[in-house]
Amino acid sequence: MQVTANVRVVPIPSESAMHTGVTNVYLVGSGQVLAIDSGEALDHHKWMLRGYLAATEQTEIALTAITHHHFDHSGNLKWVHEFLHSDVLVHERGIPLLKGKLPPPEAVRILQDNEVIDIGNGVRPRVLFTPGHSVDSVCYYVEDTGVLFTGDTLLGNSTTTVQDLASYRQSLKMLSELPNLTVICPGHGQIVRDPRERLLGLMEHRAQRDRQILATLDGAGPMSAWDIMMKVYPENLDKRLRRPATRNVQTHLDQFKQEGRLTEVPGSRRKPNEAKLKREKELAKAQDKVLRQAKKIEAERATAALRAQEAPTTADWSRPPTYELIGRAKD
Ligand SMILES: [Zn+2]
Repeated sequence: MQVTANVRVVPIPSESAMHTGVTNVYLVGSGQVLAIDSGEALDHHKWMLRGYLAATEQTEIALTAITHHHFDHSGNLKWVHEFLHSDVLVHERGIPLLKGKLPPPEAVRILQDNEVIDIGNGVRPRVLFTPGHSVDSVCYYVEDTGVLFTGDTLLGNSTTTVQDLASYRQSLKMLSELPNLTVICPGHGQIVRDPRERLLGLMEHRAQRDRQILATLDGAGPMSAWDIMMKVYPENLDKRLRRPATRNVQTHLDQFKQEGRLTEVPGSRRKPNEAKLKREKELAKAQDKVLRQAKKIEAERATAALRAQEAPTTADWSRPPTYELIGRAKD
């Protein structure tokens, strides 16, 4: 699907409570294109990419740059190199976080903040280091056309999770001040056509969260991040988002603590119950064995069903009907 003259999006359906609906891989340029992100290491992600390339004349992925190291963005870096012969571009902060996920070193290029990637035909995305969602988050900005690729720093249909709130706020501010910004291509969800409003909205959303958390704590005595989350977030919050929401509350608390506005009463960690861990491990092993057996039976059935096509249906007929011509073939 075309986003602008030089940008196409491959929206890949994906199941996750964290974001709605799709994981986006972008193809930038024409002919030998730059892919932004590589999707998740699942067959249907690879099929979608392959299918899209096959359906688009004379398009090959020459370079693949990722927005951050998370598995749903970096999952196919080895695969794009091995099967599509693409080189892989990673920001220097991402390298230590991608152990075992990268193709051989000769196929990897390390990106610096502000570096311009020249992909030909005058399309020149710039690398912008925008930590916050993760320590290695980057955006790519094509200033001529005002197209910004944000990965998970800004999502199409929902707010994102934040690891370091102070950095995240700075990153949003920097992005909101980009000259000529006209469209945001997020890592998940729909294309954003009102980018500046969305960035300012997110900054305001965080400021509002600050106020809510402070108001909740005001005069309340010590509270855990979970208890604060249960008060601050709407009652109809998807239950699967409670832990991510608590982590978000935690980032606000961390920032307040850094600013000297909070004291923390340290928690105490539960000691691991060795016997329970052992039981869980054994159970998982037993389940894996059953799953393997089931897969084997499934494969055997499929093979048997195919084999059955090779011979007459003797199970149904002891003597199948036979056919004989009445008279002669030529009258
Ligand atoms: Zn992510």
